[in-house]
Amino acid sequence: MKRLWMLFAGMLVLAVGVPATEAAVRYATIGTGGVTGVYYPVGGAISRMVNAKRDEYNIRATVESTGGSVFNVNALMAGDLEFGVVQSDLQYHAYSGQNDWEGRPQTKLRAVFALHPEIVTIVAAADKDIKTVADLKGKIVNIGQPGSGQRSNAFDLFAVAGIDPDKDLKAEGLRPAESAGMLQDNRIDAFFYTVGHPNGSVKEAAAGTRKVNFVTVPEEMVAELTQMHSFYASAAIPIHHYPGVANDADVPSFGVKATLCTSADVPEDVVYAITKEVFTQLESFRSLHPALEVLTPENMLQGLSAPLHPGAERYFKEAGLM
Ligand code: GLU
Repeated sequence: MKRLWMLFAGMLVLAVGVPATEAAVRYATIGTGGVTGVYYPVGGAISRMVNAKRDEYNIRATVESTGGSVFNVNALMAGDLEFGVVQSDLQYHAYSGQNDWEGRPQTKLRAVFALHPEIVTIVAAADKDIKTVADLKGKIVNIGQPGSGQRSNAFDLFAVAGIDPDKDLKAEGLRPAESAGMLQDNRIDAFFYTVGHPNGSVKEAAAGTRKVNFVTVPEEMVAELTQMHSFYASAAIPIHHYPGVANDADVPSFGVKATLCTSADVPEDVVYAITKEVFTQLESFRSLHPALEVLTPENMLQGLSAPLHPGAERYFKEAGLM
């Protein structure tokens, strides 16, 4: 009899309790970049903040390592991700239907907030004498894997530099985690990485026995790029993060901003919760990665071109930021 009662009670719990809680849990997968990048730890930090408030929000956030910005936009639009870190230039191109999305504007793309600045960083083996962009001709260059932001930036730079990537150099499409080792092993001469500084892969390359230098992007090319694309800005690679490099001053290049994006299909309260947690705990968020140190509530609303997701807008209005 007692057993029967317990069985009955158990069935009651199954019938009433379990479905109610499970239905309320929302899953939020955040697409980032390679594991040696900045996106990956930043995505991890965001997910931990939201998961810590699980009782309040019922959101279960997870982080995925991906190919980068272009991959993230496409996965967001396919509904495979709820959030993705995307370079500001690519957010713009995707929403307006340019470059990788020529004639196919991604109208459901939504902006959440901006993150850290990223610099188009070209690391070269010092023994190859690659001082400036034109010296990349005839070299083996990792321009980044398909789906990465750096690959798109490399093509834009080659266009203004008059370099044909099919004829003038040997382009490789490797992941950032492979770049430093391949350069040290003399299998590539240089690699592109659009990334926040300091970065682990660049540190690894700079600390090897084969000496490396950053490649200068000449002023006139930077000027042409910033005129061509409103989301490009001139920038300099801070060499103090990389003690071993052959350069003796910060290296001129151009840059973008990392931004957090989502889809119009993601529920308002999920986007609201993520925005609120990051903004109300900005101090501790900033301390999670040195690239995030420069963030302020104000600059986190700059560099967005897709429409703001209503969940983010709700928080910004509430916080008096809009
Ligand atoms: N900016 C790179 C991209 O969009 C990723 C950089 C990172 O992972 O920190 O592919």
